[in-house]
Amino acid sequence: MRLSYNSQVMIPKELLEILVCPACKQALDYRPTPESLKCTKCHRVYAVKDDIPIMLVDEATVEP
Ligand SMILES: [Zn+2]
Repeated sequence: MRLSYNSQVMIPKELLEILVCPACKQALDYRPTPESLKCTKCHRVYAVKDDIPIMLVDEATVEP
């Protein structure tokens, strides 16, 4: 039996549902291009590197 894996693995939905903004504990919006997570409250954008969200306030950028 051969298992096939998609090399372009996106962040699992289950993981997205438990991720919250570390600054204000709000839910995050997933954005595919470039892959990032944006907080709906404080508008911080968390980058995703190698399918790992960088959930650090210091590393986040803020969009208007
Ligand atoms: Zn936030």
